[in-house]
Amino acid sequence: MKTRLFDAHNHLQNYSNGAETEDALERASAAGVAGMLCNGTSPADWERVSALAAGHKGIIPCFGLHPWFVGKVRPGWLGLLEGFLSRSPSCVGEIGLDKAASSDFAEQEESFRAQLRLAKKLERPVSIHCVRAWGRLLEVLKEERPPAFMLHAYGGPPEMTGELAGLGAYFSFSGAVLDPEREKMRKALLAAPPERLLFETESPGPALPGRRPGPQGVVEVIGAAAAALGQTPEALGTLSWRNAETFLGELFSQL
Ligand SMILES: [Zn+2]
Repeated sequence: MKTRLFDAHNHLQNYSNGAETEDALERASAAGVAGMLCNGTSPADWERVSALAAGHKGIIPCFGLHPWFVGKVRPGWLGLLEGFLSRSPSCVGEIGLDKAASSDFAEQEESFRAQLRLAKKLERPVSIHCVRAWGRLLEVLKEERPPAFMLHAYGGPPEMTGELAGLGAYFSFSGAVLDPEREKMRKALLAAPPERLLFETESPGPALPGRRPGPQGVVEVIGAAAAALGQTPEALGTLSWRNAETFLGELFSQL
């Protein structure tokens, strides 16, 4: 049987129209991509994420308030979020901390903690975004102890992977591992425990230098990571599919 592949992080709702989305999904399916996590970022896109997942096997929806949109939502968003999460088998995401974002950092942390608590209450895996806030992230994770969580497009220090893994972290790597300038990211890829590795496209964003191949791009991301790790793409593809299974727990049966 052909290796089944998993795109651990994307935003399919951001394609400009339904035809583009369907085209990207068909190409992904033909390339063996059999599962993916489609991440919402604010109340403005949760409904679209929910509809995409309801209409396609293999898409697990994630609902969350991204740090970029903290401070731009109406009161009551957290209750709304709990409603979306409760209505469908789903993860919490994309949530996190971002010191490069214009939103207030204290408010970011407050929303992040509230969503980690919700994940704990509903026993859902979490997809986390972190930019230039790794020390703070570690402290918050130690205090909040979310259930399974993944650090999407991991860009943190390679030497922090051990401590994060001890807290239960999965590490998702993007096409940036192909960038010759990203030596630190390749070091982190080598440092992360193999049983916690995931790969992602962030599609429709630029998954690969200068290109937007859609979820299908995870084939190339895994190929590049396999070369760096000295493995075959098939072995790494199979490993990351199994890792998705342990990360997702009961939700994996949706795929
Ligand atoms: Zn994202």
